[in-house]
Amino acid sequence: MLKENLENVEQKIQAACERSGRDRSEVTLIAVSKTKPAEMVQEAYDLGIRLFGENKVQEIMDKSEVLPADIHWHMIGHLQRNKIKYIIDKVDLIHSVDSLRLAEAIEKEAAKKHVIAKVLIEVNVGREESKFGFLPEELDDFVEKASDFSHIQFMGLMTSAPFVDNPEENRPIFAELRKLSVDIARKNAHNMSMSILSMGMTNDYEVAIEEGATMVRVGTAIFGARNYAQTNVR
Ligand SMILES: *Cc1c(COP(=O)(O)O)cnc(C)c1O
Repeated sequence: MLKENLENVEQKIQAACERSGRDRSEVTLIAVSKTKPAEMVQEAYDLGIRLFGENKVQEIMDKSEVLPADIHWHMIGHLQRNKIKYIIDKVDLIHSVDSLRLAEAIEKEAAKKHVIAKVLIEVNVGREESKFGFLPEELDDFVEKASDFSHIQFMGLMTSAPFVDNPEENRPIFAELRKLSVDIARKNAHNMSMSILSMGMTNDYEVAIEEGATMVRVGTAIFGARNYAQTNVR
């Protein structure tokens, strides 16, 4: 099942790239394995996948311990400040920097560990109460303050678009995230490269690619539906 799912997703990514005149190499697939057992991650690994997204610190710690060391873990969920220390040197990229306080704490922890943390700024483009992230109008102020940080490299922006029946409804959301990243790039802050746009999930990754996504975070279409009732995680 996993093999067919991956082939199907890969085909759709390629088709979306072709439709929008982009090269397939511009888009990176993050396989979102949250709530799924390590055995399933291993199965995807054996099919060639090396980039996995998780939204819980504990799951990254548990899975990275038993799975191959050449897996690249991406933290895509809300990160609590007191847990930064557990993953700062285990993850390739934190997609979910959603407050100045979190960025300050990451800066501090990265300095302590002598690393440069690679992160994305999460933007709540859809203005959903239930979601984390900066509102677009809060970005200027944040960017100004964060451009002082020397142990964080801001690689780009991330958003989770609303859940909609028709993915076309999210096209303006993706277009806006892209525009925001261009605005930030223009400021030429030394620690902000804005080369990554992390947007698009199972329901809308094709539209996101058409609108410029460079990373898509796909869970359900690869691993199947998550059973929250059983695992009690979200
Ligand atoms: C769960 C999750 C995904 C993947 O969602 P699917 O709809 O299963 O593809 C992507 N991004 C974030 C931030 C998530 O929490």
